[in-house]
Amino acid sequence: MVENVIIIGSGPAGLAAAIYTAREEFKPLMIKGAGAGGQLLLTTDVENYPGIERIAGPELIRSMEKHATKFGTRFLEGDVTKVDLKSRPIKVYVGSKLYETHTLIISTGASAKWMGLASEKNFIGRGVSSCATCDGFFFRGKPIAVVGGGDSAMEDAIFLTKFCNSVTVIHRRDSLRASKIMQERALANPKIKFVWDTVVEEVIGDAKVTGLRLKSLKTGEASEMKVGGLFIAIGHQPNTELFKGQLELDKEGYIVTKDDVLTGIDGVYAAGDVADRFYKQAATASGAGVKAALRAREHISILKFEEEQKSKQR
Ligand code: NAP
Repeated sequence: MVENVIIIGSGPAGLAAAIYTAREEFKPLMIKGAGAGGQLLLTTDVENYPGIERIAGPELIRSMEKHATKFGTRFLEGDVTKVDLKSRPIKVYVGSKLYETHTLIISTGASAKWMGLASEKNFIGRGVSSCATCDGFFFRGKPIAVVGGGDSAMEDAIFLTKFCNSVTVIHRRDSLRASKIMQERALANPKIKFVWDTVVEEVIGDAKVTGLRLKSLKTGEASEMKVGGLFIAIGHQPNTELFKGQLELDKEGYIVTKDDVLTGIDGVYAAGDVADRFYKQAATASGAGVKAALRAREHISILKFEEEQKSKQR
């Protein structure tokens, strides 16, 4: 059986594509990988999704899934291990199982970046984390540091004050990248301190993290800070490993698209953070998912028309 539409990835881009293609009665097959649900599952409150004043990230995803299911989306749990985008139909493998499809929507999202220190890697799961919503609870009562100056770092710092009385944001510059409202909330929170123009040079500890070695980028001065945990919130990198050598990627690994979602291969579309180095919002990802769905619909109707012409000639 050849599917009309396979969607890889189940964040807002994939789910919006699923809702639209399901309403076309294409019965899309969504393959949900290890990071099912995407970054919204790791977010606390979403306050900027148009039409919804405030909703928890996981609840927004659950609601989109329910919506997509209602119109006939089918879900498959598993990680896609290989794709062949040039073959017709397009081939998608989940382990040894092969799925074939006329169109493919790639919405594999992005994953948290790490600083790249050997000591950081050593302590992942032992005091170093990139997910405050997942792990914050385990740091109850401990002094915590958050690295980063964007919305993720502010959101994490604010969230962590639920569990900890002392949260220190360590930022490499002297001004924040975060949106104004998030900056204001973090700066006004009495439990949050800021260390500016500073980077972490080493994570220190034994069985668990006990401190950080810091370096001021202004003075070059080294210092130590006692912490019970470190949260890294320095942005994300696109999940495009699977497509290397088959799709054009930019130097940071994002899928290069034309007209927002066209990958350069007929029938293959990219939507959401996997192809978005700039906007990275749930709302823009949903919009891209809709665009990919409409392109898939156009492609399928051309295939159907060509098929009809051929059968008339027979
Ligand atoms: P981001 O906006 O790219 O910010 C990353 C931050 O980490 C920047 O302040 C950057 O410093 C710093 N950084 C990057 N590499 C670093 C390194 N190696 N060492 C130390 N610091 C480093 O990423 P984000 O905060 O994850 O946000 C991504 C997107 O998601 C944004 O569009 C944001 O608006 C959105 N978002 C929104 C919400 C919300 O609305 N509630 C929540 C989370 C994310 P520089 O500033 O010096 O570059």
